[in-house]
Amino acid sequence: MKKTNLILFGPPGSGKGTQAKYLVDKYELLHISTGDLFRYEIGNATPLGLKAKEYMDKGQLVPDEVTIGMLKNKVDANPDVKGYIFDGFPRTIPQAEALDKFLDSQEQSVTGLVALDVDDDEIVKRLLKRGETSNRPDDSNEEVIRKRIEVYGNETAVVYDYYDRQNASHKIEGVGSIEDIFARLCQLIDGLI
Ligand code: ADP
Repeated sequence: MKKTNLILFGPPGSGKGTQAKYLVDKYELLHISTGDLFRYEIGNATPLGLKAKEYMDKGQLVPDEVTIGMLKNKVDANPDVKGYIFDGFPRTIPQAEALDKFLDSQEQSVTGLVALDVDDDEIVKRLLKRGETSNRPDDSNEEVIRKRIEVYGNETAVVYDYYDRQNASHKIEGVGSIEDIFARLCQLIDGLI
C-alpha cells in the first residue's frame, strides 16, 4: 500500500512544528521531527544526544550519518501507519538522497514537499520570542539563530530545488494566522494525496 510521505519544509521558526501538530490529527500521519528526536536524546543524556548537542548548541547541523540513522530507526519502529510527516528532515542533499533510497527500498516515495515561506527578519523575531519560553539554548542567542539561518541558506534551501526537479516541491505563504496557514496547507495537501 502506498503511504503518504510529506516533507514539511521551511527555515527554522517557520512554523513547521506548530502546523505538524494539526496536520497529524487531520491526516492521521506520524510526525517525525529530527529536532525533537535529538532533544529527547539530549534529555536522556544518551551518547547520540551528547553528540548532537555539540552541533545544535552552535547552530550547526548534526552530521548526516547520525541523523539519517536515527530517522530510519524511527520509521522502522513505526511501520503500521498511514504515512509520515517529516519535519526538519531532509536538511541536506545527502539526507534527501538517503530518504529517497530508503523509501524506494520499501516501495514508497515522497508524496510531496510543502514549504512554509517566511522571510529572515520575521524568523529572527519569532525565534528570539520562542527563546524567552522554550528553554532551547539554540533559540536564546541571536548569533546562533543567525548561524542556523545561514546554514539553512547554504545547505538546506537546495533540498527544495532537489524535489522540485521531481515536480514534488510546493510553497505556501507562511505568514498570517495559524488557522489561515493551516487552511492553505490542507488545500495544498488535499491536492497531493
Ligand atoms: P529549527 O527548525 O527551529 O531550527 P529543529 O528542532 O528542527 O529546529 O532543529 C534544531 C537543531 O537540531 C538544528 O539546528 C540542528 O542542529 C539539529 N537538526 C535537526 N534536524 C537535523 C537534520 N535533519 N540534520 C542535521 N541536524 C539537524
